[in-house]
Amino acid sequence: MAVATDTRSGKVRLDMPVNYLKGVGPARAEMLRRLGIVTARDLLYHIPHRYEDASTISPIASLEPGMDGTIIGKVISKGIIPTRKGLRIFQAVLQDDSGMIEASWPGQPFLDRSIEKGDMMLLTGSVRFFHGRQLQPREYIQLGKDDADVKGGKVLAVYPATEGLSFKMIRGIIDAHLDALLPLVNEYLPPDILLEAGVPPLREAIRMVHRPKTLAEGAQGRARLAFEELLFVHILHRRANALKRQRRTGIAFQNRRQLTSALKNVLPFTLTNAQTVAVREIVADMASDRKMHRLLQGDVGSGKTIVALFAALLAMENGYQAAIMAPTELLAEQHVRTFTKLLEPLGIEPVLLTGSLSTRERKAAAEKLAGSDPVLVVGTHALVQEGAVFGHLGFVTIDEQHRFGVEQRAAISAKGESPDVLLMSATPIPRSLALTVYGDLDVSTLDERPAGRQPVTTVMRPESARERVLQFVARETEKGRQAYVVYPVIEESEKTDLKAATTMYEQLSAGPFAGRVVALIHGRVPADERETIMRAFRDGKIDVLVSTTVIEVGIDVQNATVMLVEHPERFGLSQLHQLRGRVGRGAEASYCILLGDVGEEAYRRLRIFVDTDDGFEIARADLRLRGMGNLFGEEQSGEATFKIADPVRDEDLNVKARVAAEAMLERDPDLSTKANAGVRKVLSGRYSRALDLFRVG
Ligand code: ADP
Ligand code: MG
Repeated sequence: MAVATDTRSGKVRLDMPVNYLKGVGPARAEMLRRLGIVTARDLLYHIPHRYEDASTISPIASLEPGMDGTIIGKVISKGIIPTRKGLRIFQAVLQDDSGMIEASWPGQPFLDRSIEKGDMMLLTGSVRFFHGRQLQPREYIQLGKDDADVKGGKVLAVYPATEGLSFKMIRGIIDAHLDALLPLVNEYLPPDILLEAGVPPLREAIRMVHRPKTLAEGAQGRARLAFEELLFVHILHRRANALKRQRRTGIAFQNRRQLTSALKNVLPFTLTNAQTVAVREIVADMASDRKMHRLLQGDVGSGKTIVALFAALLAMENGYQAAIMAPTELLAEQHVRTFTKLLEPLGIEPVLLTGSLSTRERKAAAEKLAGSDPVLVVGTHALVQEGAVFGHLGFVTIDEQHRFGVEQRAAISAKGESPDVLLMSATPIPRSLALTVYGDLDVSTLDERPAGRQPVTTVMRPESARERVLQFVARETEKGRQAYVVYPVIEESEKTDLKAATTMYEQLSAGPFAGRVVALIHGRVPADERETIMRAFRDGKIDVLVSTTVIEVGIDVQNATVMLVEHPERFGLSQLHQLRGRVGRGAEASYCILLGDVGEEAYRRLRIFVDTDDGFEIARADLRLRGMGNLFGEEQSGEATFKIADPVRDEDLNVKARVAAEAMLERDPDLSTKANAGVRKVLSGRYSRALDLFRVG
């Protein structure tokens, strides 16, 4: 193959697919792809998420329990030690001029094959007291003759990894190609912009992040790459805003107050102030001849659905069809049930469209959609599949919008003649950040909970209380209530000692919940099976649902009163808040219990969650403590705007980037001069998807 020859003769290119790089076969290329790495260039931008500072080597004798330290020593003995729990531990004793220490690798007996007596090793990790001082290595390097340079110590890069591809393998791949790739990297930002921001040029920055001489260098390199991301996003936003100012013509609905007023009259409750304001904002958007592109954000249980229903009825009283798209069949069914009850007096019967309808039902639904009568259709992504044709679609709502991809959101709004679009999200974020995340969307916020809702009693319980907690849950189920038990991982692994859904499901159903109906769901259970289980839970046929976080976001099971979360420290606060939102939906008192011993830092973080029920406050705390990436859980990560930067943590850089974007666009509004050709090229290459995001709707 021509390209392979290229590599052999040393001719790598930045846009070369990684599988042509030496040391990367098809299997590894596939794993790299999972990390978003397709080309050699992507590899350069795959930056360490942390460093191990091995730049200062300590004499072994100086290590004290509780310390972090890095040592170099010779292996003087080694072996595998079995434990009672069946875990096998590899241990080695290392010696330097000052003394010796035992190092211990639980669950890694295979190291016995690669580490030999007499080997020189560099270890970095924490020291604890266990029959004497013991080092728990986070990192180790076997020092051969070639590694003599490591003797002085160095900063080790730790990369985001994936199953089957450890950060060490990634480090190996990057290290092997860095020297060949670096000369190909050329700066595209204007020099004065770099100078003003105080960040190093690109080639230097990439070297610094992968091979820092000091921790400070790693941080400097990262700052440049983060600055670049922030700068580009500011540029994109300014362009998005310019687009927004251009009128996108939409439907000018008339506020006839027919169906909407009728709905108000039959509602079993009065709208909260926040709901009233949101409805007013939406009606104003829909009445204008500009196309609506609005996000409705509000905490779990803040009552977003009803707001969307008002908008849908406004479209219908203007003779248009309205569609509500939900991420799962279960949610779609739930909406249909709610709407059917509410709208019966109005003579409106919502239409359900999901993948599991019978052929006959589907045909009936399709006919209604293809017609021109105003209908209210609720469905899953089945709504955007090719077969679905709308005769007169004027309004679209996307519930739990982050569960959909850009393409799906675009596809539904492409179904009509420029329908107005309302996106809904249960992860509220501060307004200042909404622009960064959502581009040119207008935002309405429900910052108020409907009155009369019982707060969920939230508590933290230590491991020692496990038995009592489980008994409490069992008693709730004996009273006829239902419970969720949530775990951070599906299966146990040798690397961590986390309790996992699968194992705990077996234990719980055999022990504490024997005699009750216990079910298990997680991400690897096929979607249709998951729906079946969730349906059974909804219908009260399951007492205890053991799961990972896949349990449905918006699902409303009023009889569920307990949310038990194990290893709560592994969850983001917003994620916990979403989980807590699954209970407290009925008249019975409800409980959210965080079970397990957690470290001091985790305890302080979780305390915030226990002490407040305000989703905004929790989101803010989450942002402050853990950064953007964690706010939405895993689902959103596929389209995260930032890979490296974090607008909250990198606040200073973010300000510099905004100033720089303004300066660049002031000089060259369309970035059309030769000086900005590089920037333009990178922008359109890297952010074509983000540009799509801004334009959806
Ligand atoms: P979410 O914002 O999480 O999607 P929902 O729209 O599902 O919340 O509403 C949660 C519950 O609150 C529903 O049972 C709904 O009928 C009820 N609800 C909505 N608005 C009000 C209100 N103003 N007063 C009382 N209950 C309300
Ligand atoms: Mg909802």
